[in-house]
Amino acid sequence: MSDNNTIDVDVVIVGAGFAGMYQLVQMRRAGLSAVVLETADDVGGTWYWNRYPGARCDILTVDYSYSWDPELEKDWIWSERYATQPEILRYAQFVADKHDLRRDIRFNTKVTSAQWNNDAKRWRIHTDSGDDVTAQFYVMATGCLSMPKVPDIEGTDRFKGEVYFTNSWPHDGVDFSGKRVAVIGTGSSGIQSIPLIASQADQLTVFQRTPNFSVPAHNGPIADERLVAYRQDPAAYREEARHSGIGVPTTPADVSALEVSPQEREATYEEVWRRGELAHLLEPYNDLRISAESNDTIRCFIHNKIREIVKDPDVADLLCPTNHYFATKRPCLDSGYYATYNLPQVRLVDLQKQAIETITESGINIVDSAISAKEKTESIDFDAIVFATGFDAMTGAIVGVDITGRNDESLRDAWAHGPQTYLGLMTVGFPNLFMITGPGSPSVLSNMMVSIEQHVDLITDTIKHLRTSGIDTIEPTELAQRRWVQHSNEIADLTLLPTANSWYMGANVPGKPQVFLPYPGGVGEYRKICDEMVVQGYLGFTLTGANGTQNNDGVIRPLKPDVQEMLSIMAEMALPPLETMGVEGARAFMAASGANMPPGPEVGEIIDGTLPGADGTSLDYRLYRPATAGPHPMVVYYHGGGWVVGSATSDDPLCRYLCVESESIIISVNYRHAPEARFPAAADDGLAAANWISDHAEELGGRPGQLAVAGWSAGANIAAVTTQQAKLAGTPTISGQVLLNPVTDVSTVRQSYIDNAEGYVLTTPLMSWFCDQYCNPADRLNPKVSPLLADTLSGLPPALVITCEFDPLRDEGDAYAEALAAAGVQVQHLQCPGQIHTAIPAVDAMVTSEYARAAMADALRKFSSAAVGH
Ligand code: NAP
Repeated sequence: MSDNNTIDVDVVIVGAGFAGMYQLVQMRRAGLSAVVLETADDVGGTWYWNRYPGARCDILTVDYSYSWDPELEKDWIWSERYATQPEILRYAQFVADKHDLRRDIRFNTKVTSAQWNNDAKRWRIHTDSGDDVTAQFYVMATGCLSMPKVPDIEGTDRFKGEVYFTNSWPHDGVDFSGKRVAVIGTGSSGIQSIPLIASQADQLTVFQRTPNFSVPAHNGPIADERLVAYRQDPAAYREEARHSGIGVPTTPADVSALEVSPQEREATYEEVWRRGELAHLLEPYNDLRISAESNDTIRCFIHNKIREIVKDPDVADLLCPTNHYFATKRPCLDSGYYATYNLPQVRLVDLQKQAIETITESGINIVDSAISAKEKTESIDFDAIVFATGFDAMTGAIVGVDITGRNDESLRDAWAHGPQTYLGLMTVGFPNLFMITGPGSPSVLSNMMVSIEQHVDLITDTIKHLRTSGIDTIEPTELAQRRWVQHSNEIADLTLLPTANSWYMGANVPGKPQVFLPYPGGVGEYRKICDEMVVQGYLGFTLTGANGTQNNDGVIRPLKPDVQEMLSIMAEMALPPLETMGVEGARAFMAASGANMPPGPEVGEIIDGTLPGADGTSLDYRLYRPATAGPHPMVVYYHGGGWVVGSATSDDPLCRYLCVESESIIISVNYRHAPEARFPAAADDGLAAANWISDHAEELGGRPGQLAVAGWSAGANIAAVTTQQAKLAGTPTISGQVLLNPVTDVSTVRQSYIDNAEGYVLTTPLMSWFCDQYCNPADRLNPKVSPLLADTLSGLPPALVITCEFDPLRDEGDAYAEALAAAGVQVQHLQCPGQIHTAIPAVDAMVTSEYARAAMADALRKFSSAAVGH
């Protein structure tokens, strides 16, 4: 203690729930001085406050237990599958006693504000008791669901009867016998408490704004099979949980819900319903989180269950969630919830049809939503109102403290448009401030106990590292934080999660920015990311100490999540490099793998034909015609494949997409392949095909004078060369060029050949092999293979050039776009971060590159309308 009102410690921890308690243990183990500040008069956090009837864990309590004290595994035996709140609180108290934690916890102490002192490199924390704490490190262990949502119903203060909030329930309990009770809210707290309140009350009226999915807990003794796995080897059991999806040992499925018969699916859902574990509900099929159609199967299954249980079909209908997919709002676990609505004293008010107009002194007035909002239709008197209306989740408790960081910026302002964090752990501008299970970490999408322990261990190791390395401060970099937030959102966008108005999105609190709050990539993957961050020298952090500043700026997951997933699958397949398969082997392999791609959209018509190549060889083409009335603008498309593999049909999904989205006829033309026909055969065929199509525009159903070219990779090389050759020859007239990952300079020496040499499908050795098959070293300076080396690029048609960050061809594509622009050509240059060479043609498979495909279609539309204008 430095003066009467100030304590100086190494670490201040706010909150004495499971997170704060373990953080205190770890700080003591590390030999650091620490104090915990806690508003309540005892430990327990969420389990201290949420004492409503029926409050229970919704993760099996055997899983929802500390793993850091192996003795606890023996000392504490849970009495039920899902322990009640009093038992979980006793567990927290038992741990506090066993480890003598309370001596370092200041109870009845609320933190009001905190300021970073940049000179002292310390935090000063103010409390409502008047005491201040200064500390080098400040850990917010304030929980994700601890700041009650402020009641947003008109007249809440007016009611003269009893008012209860599930999230701050009286310690002595409440007896509802003989009373008329209202419960507002049907989230987990409402669904758990409603059956018990109904069993006491004279009348119970439930006000439901959104029906929720709930499954029966089937509470009772812990299933033997689970206990066997756990007791055999508790350490291995816990380790499995740490590397799982949601922090509970489960077996991920590898089959889609749509791949099995309805009978098999029904039997599987029956089984998971019987098991009564939320962790297993999304487990049976691998696409319930991502496919609306698959999710509908479990949604319908639960609807049917509700209709079986609830006798009044109208009430059953009201209880069936139809405005969100299963598990896009947190599903609930209940004990007799739906059957409660069969009791004569229970009434359900559907707030979709009837709105709460106001709370009055004696009850609640509701109006029919369909009539004028002011027209009172019913006034219901109550003795008690229970608010089960939830929390300002994930951010509420953190910004509830007035935290001021470096540069006097307040955290509230920094997060005004949604929380900005790196790994859900720290935030830019707030050095040495750690959040346990903060926004941007798996947190509420996981077994909290697993996520808490991982964060506490990471924070502890970080502080120890800083101490032993003479480092005073740690803070994320802007880039690392921005890309983490983006990465987390991109994963969410691959799922159905953001489609619901959930508290995961901040949608339950009026005025709260709507962004997806937790990291949805799973606790196992998240742990891997954090471990890699440490191994890479605290990548994404700036560390400052007496010896200066280490700026470890960088991005921990630079690849787009779907690209990364695809690369992981390919890595598991351990395929031999394409260039080692020989020419015929490579062609056969590419043809077979192309057949497994999603087919792309339906087009109006497909015609296969032939046209003459430069030497009269017959070349295949495939014409894709839009379903709309023609004639249409035309696009000559050149497929990718390094001049060696591929065909007129190998980029079929992309051609279909471009046809539909740009409303153009796409003619994908083949060209002679190397090594049988080496340079300049493909280039010459490209021009010959464009000329033939231009000459036959009318008979092909196209509009004469509206001809663009497009291509991918070596095909984009042919497209670029064709526009140059057409300009020199004066024919055909080309309205624009779409160059996707173009080869523009076959010297293969640019930096991107080094940066992206291996691991991103198109490798540097493969590209060298392609070039060797196509042309001699002496040809490589020829603009017919290296269009970047042309004497001039001026006068070429407008271009869209797309390059991908993790592509060996990136730099030559970028250079071509820059050279075109320098030559006065109208260029749109789209650089795609996190993408690889093969991502953009993968229609319906690679979601994060959709914008690039859309840009291709958009450019083609613009080229044709400019050509019309011309
Ligand atoms: P919640 O899930 O946010 O539910 C709040 C309920 O109140 C929702 O039905 C909401 O409707 C309704 N509501 C909010 N404002 C309203 C208004 N002005 N008028 C009418 N209705 C209103 O909150 P919760 O039930 O406390 O649960 C929060 C989370 O805590 C859970 O999802 C879970 O993660 C955790 N929890 C866990 C357990 C457990 O482990 N056993 C128990 C309780 C809670 P809308 O849906 O339309 O917003």
